[in-house]
Amino acid sequence: VNNEIRYRHPEVECLPLERLRALQAERMRNQIRYLWERSRLYRKKFDDAGLLPGDIKTLEDFRKIPFTTKDELRQSIAEEPPYGRHCCVPREEVAWAPSTSGTSGVPLVLPRSQRDIEIWIELNARAFTTMGLRPGDILQNIMGYQWLYAGIMLHLGAQRAGAAVVNAGMGNSERQMWALEHFQPDVLLATPSYFTYLGNLVAERELTRTLRGPRIATGGGEVGCNTPAGKQAIRSRFPAVQTVSDIGGVTDIGTIIWVECPYETGGHFSEDSIYAEVLDPETFQPVAEGQPGELVMSDFVDTCTPLIRYRVKDLVTWTSAACPCGRTLGRMPEGVIGRVDDMITVRSANIYPSAIDAIVKGMPELNGEYQIVVDRPKGLDELTIRVEPADATVNPAEIIHAVQTRMRLNSATAVTVEVVAAGSLPRFVYKASRVVDKRKGQTEHMMFEKAAAQGRS
Ligand SMILES: [Zn+2]
Repeated sequence: VNNEIRYRHPEVECLPLERLRALQAERMRNQIRYLWERSRLYRKKFDDAGLLPGDIKTLEDFRKIPFTTKDELRQSIAEEPPYGRHCCVPREEVAWAPSTSGTSGVPLVLPRSQRDIEIWIELNARAFTTMGLRPGDILQNIMGYQWLYAGIMLHLGAQRAGAAVVNAGMGNSERQMWALEHFQPDVLLATPSYFTYLGNLVAERELTRTLRGPRIATGGGEVGCNTPAGKQAIRSRFPAVQTVSDIGGVTDIGTIIWVECPYETGGHFSEDSIYAEVLDPETFQPVAEGQPGELVMSDFVDTCTPLIRYRVKDLVTWTSAACPCGRTLGRMPEGVIGRVDDMITVRSANIYPSAIDAIVKGMPELNGEYQIVVDRPKGLDELTIRVEPADATVNPAEIIHAVQTRMRLNSATAVTVEVVAAGSLPRFVYKASRVVDKRKGQTEHMMFEKAAAQGRS
């Protein structure tokens, strides 16, 4: 690790875990009282659940509160435009009205007060300091500046951390190339797929050796900065990169909620501001550290539309183990590994196609093609993963062992790995459909209906 470690808020970043939990509980109690007093949406949710602010004292009590879903927010905004019934501040305190389109079409409005903006500038500045940005650095920001919230907030956070920001925004690759050569940015902020695109242009024009930077490549929002294969892909295109830092967040709550330090041990979560629960998507009980579970977030800092127990539907793993950088903030060692809605249950083990995707694509012995088949031949679920070797020299037995080890399954889970001839699996031009579920019953479908019903309760 070449970057010397610096903290922006050492009093929270390195807080002993016990005191961190106490701080979270205190902030949680304050936020619940605030929501109960100010948000009509949450007042009704508490009333319906028979809860008063005084009933929630500990982080364990906190689990009594019903989840919040995106559908509820959309409905709240539709009933009372422009900010919704869940907005906690009077109209004159709203200073910014960004919106996110999401995938379901109707934009979700995310009002912000001046105080919210200030809080997130400071949290984002802390994130940039964490990844190794230092005063004097130049940062080229290739994130979107329109409608959304993230591009501008990342810009302001990087400035606060001491950088000069090139406000490139998305697109216009010719001008991006000019900026790369002219400014020689120390930090490049883009989506992982844009790193690939720009990196290919750099190689095509033989600029790889004339570029002195970037020293830090950072981005998020899609798989890439959080997997060994994705990190390697960025490093191979930008050889000066010392740190590939996965950043992530959920626009509905804030901007950089987790960030990797130069040790790249997984994103450190801003636990002092956003509370994370990692839950079994079926039982909603906390999962053990290291096990995949659904990330549920609660916001202890915002004033306009703070959300608590918000179901993001992202799957993550969590660890609170010490990091060499000295921070005690919990980490997500694999970043976001998939979506809850994609989960397959095989004999009560939860299997995530996106995790299999990452494993298969991260193994040089394989060519990246695969198929997942779920069947119930003798009344019991069985899952088969078919993969193709990269060339004739690979040993199928070694591949089978490697895939099973990487999936970290116990032997009771009926997962078979088959190595089939190269070229024998179906190819997809557009959207790949690699999961074939042959089971007659609709077990997992019913499970999701149950989960959805509980989520809205
Ligand atoms: Zn660290």
